[in-house]
Amino acid sequence: MSKVISYAAVSAKEKLAPLHIERREVGAKDVQIEILFCGVCHSDLHTARNEWQNSVYPVVPGHEIVGRVIKVGADVKAFKAGDLAGVGCLVDSCRVCPDCLDGLEQYCDGEVFTYNSEDKNFKDAGKMTYGGYSSQIVVDEHFVLRISDKLNLAEVAPLLCAGITTYSPLKHWKVGPGSKVGIVGLGGLGHMGVKLAHAMGAHVVLFTTSASKVADAKRLGADEVVISKNPDEMQAHLKSFDFILNTVAAAHNLDIFTELLKRDGTMCLNGVPEHSHPSPSIFNLIFKRRQIAGSLIGGIKETQEMLDFCAEHNITSDIEIIAMKDINQAYERMVKGDVKYRFVIDMATLES
Ligand code: NAP
Ligand code: ZN
Ligand code: ZN
Repeated sequence: MSKVISYAAVSAKEKLAPLHIERREVGAKDVQIEILFCGVCHSDLHTARNEWQNSVYPVVPGHEIVGRVIKVGADVKAFKAGDLAGVGCLVDSCRVCPDCLDGLEQYCDGEVFTYNSEDKNFKDAGKMTYGGYSSQIVVDEHFVLRISDKLNLAEVAPLLCAGITTYSPLKHWKVGPGSKVGIVGLGGLGHMGVKLAHAMGAHVVLFTTSASKVADAKRLGADEVVISKNPDEMQAHLKSFDFILNTVAAAHNLDIFTELLKRDGTMCLNGVPEHSHPSPSIFNLIFKRRQIAGSLIGGIKETQEMLDFCAEHNITSDIEIIAMKDINQAYERMVKGDVKYRFVIDMATLES
């Protein structure tokens, strides 16, 4: 066991602060990574503040991790010391259920998230996983991703959650040339959704509540931008979308989006707000056989596919680098939607 420095929330009401945590010894299949950058996902904030009522404190958030391998176990084949490596939202799963065998570990009932999941590597019951707001992490090689050295490393970090969470549904619902796709919300997930859907060849319409983001959305790859608070702009797109990806982090009226779907169109929910959305109109769904669906991050195989796709298409996240000590201010800005478009923590600023 080794003690490493982290930033943790010790209760829902307190600010994040330095805390020493334990990392396990490097086992035969483990990769030990020095964390260089960690993206800041809205899920980190929901968990630190117990907005989903499932937080076990202390919470060390962070699941957009990139760094350099320090050490590998005897049986590790794919990584060696000195390699770049990434870790996303998952660090383990049962490995034998149909979901795991299909490479969809995120849907395994035995999935272990990178933070705030029970950590079976420790004998003490109730010991939790700790995430990337820390200097090091030890992860089974199956859950470690290869990172291209062609892209800016700090800008790659958000791909590990925001990238795969938007890539997976876009692929599942077969977005490509000829599809009209809506992305709702221009935050961390939304800006990756715009970039990825554009790279897949779709006609992309970005829905935002922030008039100040229109020019950025176009620069990021949106063909059209709609201010979702403006009913006339919304009505112009009635019954026209094949697919809408909704990344909004707060409860809102879904009907203004479902009525924009064509017959058999789907709106996939990515956002997980603290409070549920108001119940959607059934009429909007039955009259055109429309669907509301959900999607959770992505499996390891697809995460690697997404990273390779991004390296090939030169896609990274638009980021603002912050020091670890500024995380609490970053959370306040995130609540106000004031992020362009992902905070990434420079781990060199985390002092032991
Ligand atoms: P984010 O960077 O904070 O972006 C959320 C965006 O939602 C905002 O930029 C804003 O865009 C829009 N928004 C509109 N009204 C809002 C309001 N009242 N409060 C907050 N946002 C509002 O968040 P994120 O990191 O992209 O995460 C988005 C959501 O997805 C979170 O709930 C997160 O927990 C969830 N998530 C889910 C998965 C999954 O696997 N399904 C994975 C990661 C994250 P505009 O200014 O353009 O309107
Ligand atoms: Zn996330
Ligand atoms: Zn499984």
